[in-house]
Amino acid sequence: MSLSLKWTMKRITTKFEFKIARSAESYYDVVILELSDGYFTAYGEAAPSKRYEKGPDAILALLKSKEQQILALSLEDHENRQTDLERLFPESYSLQSAVDIAFWDLYGQRSGQALWQIFGAQKNMVASSYTIGISDLEIIPEKLKEAAPYALLKIKLGTDYDHEIMRAIRSQTDKVLRVDVNEGWKTLDDAKRGAEWLAGENVEFLEQPMPAQQLDDIAKLREFSQLPLVADENSVRPEDIPGLVGAYDGINIKLMKCGGLTNARKMVELAHKHQFDIMLGCMVETSIGISAMSQLGSFARWLDLDGNVLLAHDPFVGVGNEAGKIILSDMPGLGVEPRL
Ligand SMILES: [Mg+2]
Repeated sequence: MSLSLKWTMKRITTKFEFKIARSAESYYDVVILELSDGYFTAYGEAAPSKRYEKGPDAILALLKSKEQQILALSLEDHENRQTDLERLFPESYSLQSAVDIAFWDLYGQRSGQALWQIFGAQKNMVASSYTIGISDLEIIPEKLKEAAPYALLKIKLGTDYDHEIMRAIRSQTDKVLRVDVNEGWKTLDDAKRGAEWLAGENVEFLEQPMPAQQLDDIAKLREFSQLPLVADENSVRPEDIPGLVGAYDGINIKLMKCGGLTNARKMVELAHKHQFDIMLGCMVETSIGISAMSQLGSFARWLDLDGNVLLAHDPFVGVGNEAGKIILSDMPGLGVEPRL
């Protein structure tokens, strides 16, 4: 079997500017991988986040210089491949993820099974939320209209006008909300005030209320908060998980932070071991990344896999999303194809 690899950079545009506590973007450049054995074509995606690594140009340069080493990676020994990927690309977990996803896709296609079957997951899973990024107050009604089919909304806070955002949303809808602060509350007092306020607003949980390095404060907040706390910026890779015991109730696993499906599966195991609830999340990604993470969907208590439905145009077709219900296919591998 001789493998070949192609890569392209794709600009993906969101329907609305996507703003969180630390950044605002209306488009993202992602790197798409195509791994072929001459018979099957497998796909991978790197959607690098500025919070964790350099941008897509750095990824293109790495691909160019390390193509042969990628093609020499093991298709069957996933653990070893991940070790090799961490050695090859220590600074780009989204590239590790892209390569790992493409190898899993090829592995699944060759074995004739969908990855969720190989992973021992189920087809049924909880519904995904739909994210309302931080926006000018005037745009909120328009965003809520876009989100109308979704029963669960994830709201981004962590601004100096959190109360106004919440009021604008609550004046239009009584849906269950999840709140992601993206490290935006900087002091324990602010975070306590926020947690107390939101506990009365039909909120399901608080995600990353404070900066990742303030873990001691977050542990104190957890003792005080009625709402469960979910780690995101604190829950990057498998080795982070044991250190979160006592500070959080749940962890958010994302492929682009952890380095791919091999590590995501490891994080699922560690979450079970340390009794964390599991959330599966994403960056703004195409249906390649979202379809990959959805293969593990049934292991999650909460899903936030909306990166592809936030796009104005998704260059790939993969899992379905019907009002937040993610539909896995029986197609071997990831079940992803370019959109014609
Ligand atoms: Mg988050």
